[in-house]
Amino acid sequence: MDKQTAIKEKFALMHTYSRAPLKLVKGKGCYVWDQNGKKYLDFTAGIAVCNLGHVPDKVKAKISAQLDQIWHSSNLFEIEAQELLAAKLTEMSAFDAAFFCNSGAEANEAAIKLARLYAHHQTNTEQYEIVTFQHGFHGRTLGTLSATAQEKIQKGFDPLLPGFTYLPYNDIPALSELEKIKPIAVMLELVQGEGGVIPADKEWIKALAAICKKNGILMIVDEVQTGMGRTGTLFAYEQYEFQPDIITLAKGLGSGFPIGAMLAKENVAQYFGPGTHGSTFGGNPLATTAGLSTLETFSEEQIIANVQKQSEYLWTRLNGLKEKYPCIKAIRGKGLMIGIVLDTEAAQVIQAAQQESLLILSAGPQVVRLLPPLTVGKEEIGEFVMKLDHVFAKL
Ligand SMILES: *Cc1c(COP(=O)(O)O)cnc(C)c1O
Repeated sequence: MDKQTAIKEKFALMHTYSRAPLKLVKGKGCYVWDQNGKKYLDFTAGIAVCNLGHVPDKVKAKISAQLDQIWHSSNLFEIEAQELLAAKLTEMSAFDAAFFCNSGAEANEAAIKLARLYAHHQTNTEQYEIVTFQHGFHGRTLGTLSATAQEKIQKGFDPLLPGFTYLPYNDIPALSELEKIKPIAVMLELVQGEGGVIPADKEWIKALAAICKKNGILMIVDEVQTGMGRTGTLFAYEQYEFQPDIITLAKGLGSGFPIGAMLAKENVAQYFGPGTHGSTFGGNPLATTAGLSTLETFSEEQIIANVQKQSEYLWTRLNGLKEKYPCIKAIRGKGLMIGIVLDTEAAQVIQAAQQESLLILSAGPQVVRLLPPLTVGKEEIGEFVMKLDHVFAKL
């Protein structure tokens, strides 16, 4: 391709992302390679998607076998992998039924619809309000951006979908508002990802869960980023003393194959009957094969135990860097979902890291976000810390 054609093709893309000038053409485990063959240590995992590392062998084998069988049949027919994945997800969680879709935003849309439908079926309520929390992130569709209490995400898209009220996160006194708002549901992340890697306080969740229980308010937990082992348990809610009514999943569920899911308890799930909701691609044979083999690999390779072990080591090493460099204000997060809070721009750290063949992310202007594959080992963490040390030394 000549240069002129290359430039034209680049500009044929809408500029919804400011992309790094880097084309990744190959990945294996914790490493990726660009088109020039340069190797990078990847602590982004495709934004918490490649939790089993890049091109995991077992998932690859199952998807390859499925490619020979059938790719798509629609939800007008039974799909075996979909049934098995639903059975496995409900067996491994506190929920009774699963709905499959193709992304995090779609999973949250399904949760919002199900909460409204549930409320509609309760005899003594005309309510439809859903409370979400400041700095949260729930997606880019009109519904989910209306649920996302961030000005920069909502700006320019008025009118937003009605029915969302925002409260501050981790603020116990503010929860008294719930008795006035009388929402049908709350929706939240247990570690706010895009909002800056902010974990929910245990005491706040306890207070929130008590109010929800007392007032019959559904609890929807958006586990799109925190789910699939990221925080050291399969789902983040397991580390808190409550059970949500609904959770949503996507990112890590298919190891890079697009798939989303909403899981719910039976008393809520029962209202999603034929004709209420659907998706052409949702839960298709390839996607659910990817999801099923991803979950099987979690058990077979004891991924959760690895997250617990390696995160402990990584946190210790990061706290060492914090001692050494005063520009690091705090290390926060859970498991292998980590924010390094800086008193300087995260963007310059990310760029400098790229020069060191290290890929990392941001979560807001002054937070560097780490989302390594959950298969990461001690050696790779050592390499990571050495590279990041070089980056901070040169700042
Ligand atoms: C990424 C993310 C979403 C949106 O997922 P998409 O697949 O991009 O639609 C929603 N909620 C949370 C918490 C996320 O991290």
